[in-house]
Order: sequence, then structure tokens, then C-alpha cells
Amino acid sequence: MSEKHIVVIPGDGIGEEITTAAIEVMKAAAEKCNIKFTFEKMYAGGAAIDKYGVPLPDETVEACKKANGVLLGAVGGPKWDNVKPELRAERAILGLRKALGLYANLRPIKIFSALTSKSPLKEELVSDVDILILRELTGGIYFGPKQEAHIVDGVEQATDLEIYTRPEIERIVKMAFNIAKGRSNKVTSVDKSNVLATARMWRRIADEIVVDYPEVTLEHMYADNCAMQLVLQPKQFDVIVTSNLFGDILSDEAAVITGSIGLLPSASLGDGGIGLYEPIHGSAPDIKGRGIANPIGTILSGALLFRHSLDCEMAASMIEEAVEDVLLDGYRTRDIYGQGMTRVSTEEMASRIIDGLR
Ligand code: NAD
Repeated sequence: MSEKHIVVIPGDGIGEEITTAAIEVMKAAAEKCNIKFTFEKMYAGGAAIDKYGVPLPDETVEACKKANGVLLGAVGGPKWDNVKPELRAERAILGLRKALGLYANLRPIKIFSALTSKSPLKEELVSDVDILILRELTGGIYFGPKQEAHIVDGVEQATDLEIYTRPEIERIVKMAFNIAKGRSNKVTSVDKSNVLATARMWRRIADEIVVDYPEVTLEHMYADNCAMQLVLQPKQFDVIVTSNLFGDILSDEAAVITGSIGLLPSASLGDGGIGLYEPIHGSAPDIKGRGIANPIGTILSGALLFRHSLDCEMAASMIEEAVEDVLLDGYRTRDIYGQGMTRVSTEEMASRIIDGLR
């Protein structure tokens, strides 16, 4: 039996409820795969501001560096909205990504067959959609030099500079090609090479590297066209790889076609195998402590942790299949409830998923 150490950061709002549910499911899946877990709970976000005066205490960073994987609920809430910018709860996530060297954000966009009617798109367009968006996370325009608004020759102006280096592009496109090998071997690289120099370099480097992956088919698409294609014909995509800015926008667009933000997981990965796994939604302070939060996004983040940090595909698929089955059996938390379905609490949803693990 192998031993793995997981740091759990519940964070704020519904974080405690959804991470508790996810840990129960992960423990049950690990048992079936002969993995023994140790869990260590740490603080970040508003909870850490209250306890330590900072959103990301050094203790949390050190614990994460020693772990095999980190599971995060969500951070932030109205209580901490008016603190100084450097103390904002959301800083915890940026700080963790930086400290752990996480340069790729993975967002699987999968439509569950039981929930196609929840999508704002027509059912026939979204059934069987299964896209993986890989967003570069630490470079590009968000991190380039900026000049806040100032006056030049009597006119107010501001500047943001997009910089990408060859190593930054190489590592993210290589990750995309490696992930595509375990899927359907197709990668769409999204850029604006018709207008941006960084994008022309990105495209050239992707073309050079794909030669080492003969089984992978690489296509290029402009970001504006990709935004249209995601709603016109989402099924055409498998793996999408793109820059920080385009990935931010396109991954949120793709998320809404699934119909519920409570269901979607994410992973932030680097080279060391360690990753940060969290649902894509926020801390939902409006429903905190009522037992009605949907834990599926966090439970599926746990599945990604098995896949990408523990190299245990069996447990990952087992959890994903159990979630699919429970939804097909009609169990629903309040956010995805519909007539004729069985309404369950956060805890009951986790129990049903555990019962479905096989
Ligand atoms: P939110 O995602 O928390 O909530 C939006 C709506 O979706 C709310 O009505 C909420 O009840 C519902 N919802 C979200 N997750 C749900 C779940 N699992 N089950 C059922 N319903 C769910 O977004 P918001 O209200 O804009 O932000 C609330 C706080 O979360 C803010 O402080 C924001 O800064 C923070 N936030 C954190 C993260 C993160 O930690 N990664 C991401 C986004 C927002």
C-alpha cells in the first residue's frame, strides 16, 4: 500500500462543506486502489486573514510544498472585501500558484448526459462535449510590465505589455501534447497570430514541437473564431491550449455551456508533479452552512488529483463514473434540481457517489 500526503485548504464560505465531502470520496476511492492517505488541513484566504493577518501564511506554503497534492475549496467573501489589495483573500491563490511553480491551468469541460437540458445551448449541440482547456498561467499580459493611467502630451494613457519566452511556450504546448496522447490525440492551439507578435512565436514553436509527437494532430485557431466555435460546434474540440489572457476568457465561456458552475473541477500544474486542485466556482457565501452546496466540482477536482499528481487513473475514472451514475439515477443538489428528481444535501451527494464507486 502506498502512502500519499494531501494538504486540504477549505478556505471560506462553503469551502469546509465541499472539501469534507470530497475527502470522504477520495478516501473511499483510495482504499479501492490501495493508497493510504494522510490529510493535513491548512488555512488560506479570509480564514487565514482572521487567524494570521495574511491571506497566505508561510506555514500553508511550506505544508503544500511537502505534499503530493493540494485540494482547495474556495476563498473570499464579503467580510474581507474591503481589506487592502495586498491582503485580499484571492491573493492566496496567486501566491500558491507562484510558490508551487504552477504554470498550467487545466479545465475539463464535460457535459454529463443527465444534465444536457441545463445547458443554455441546444441539447444536440452539447451532448457528449468533452473538452480540456489548458491555459498558460504565469506569463503573458497579466504579468508583463504595466503603466497605470498617466498623461502623455495632454492625453491619458495606460499600458499592459504581453511577453512570452520560448521556455514558457514550450512547456505548456508539450504538456498539451502529452495530455492529448491520453485522449483523442487532437490539440487546438488558440492565438491571435494575425495581429500579435507573441502569438506568431507561440504558433511557430507549437509547430516545431509537434514534430516530436507524430500521433498528435495540431490545428491552429484564432481566439475570436474559437469563441464563436465554442457555442456553434463545441464537439469539434478536444484539447485546447492557449495563453493566459485567452484562456481566462475562453475557459469561462466554455464553462457556462455545461449549465452549472457547481459541477466543474480544475487543476493547476507545474513540473514537479504537485498540483493545486479546486472547483471553478467561488466560496458561495450566500449558501454557506446550509448543507445545500453542490460538492461535485470539488469531488471531480479530487479525481484530477488522482490522475495528475498521484498517477492513479483507476481512482480518477472510478470517481468520474460514479458521479455520472449518481446524476443518471436522478440525485440532485438544489442548484441542479429539476422536477421528478431526488433532492439531496451536500453530504448525501457524497455518500451516493461513494456507494457508486466500483
Ligand atoms: P460564486 O461562484 O461563489 O457564487 C455564484 C453563485 O453560484 C451563487 O449564487 C452561489 O450560491 C452559486 N454557487 C457557487 N458554487 C456553488 C456550489 N458548489 N453549489 C451550489 N451553488 C453554488 O461567485 P461569487 O458570488 O461571485 O463570489 C463569492 C466569493 O467567492 C467572492 O468573495 C469571490 O471573490 C470569491 N471567489 C473565489 C474563487 C476561488 O476561490 N477560486 C473564485 C471565484 C470567486
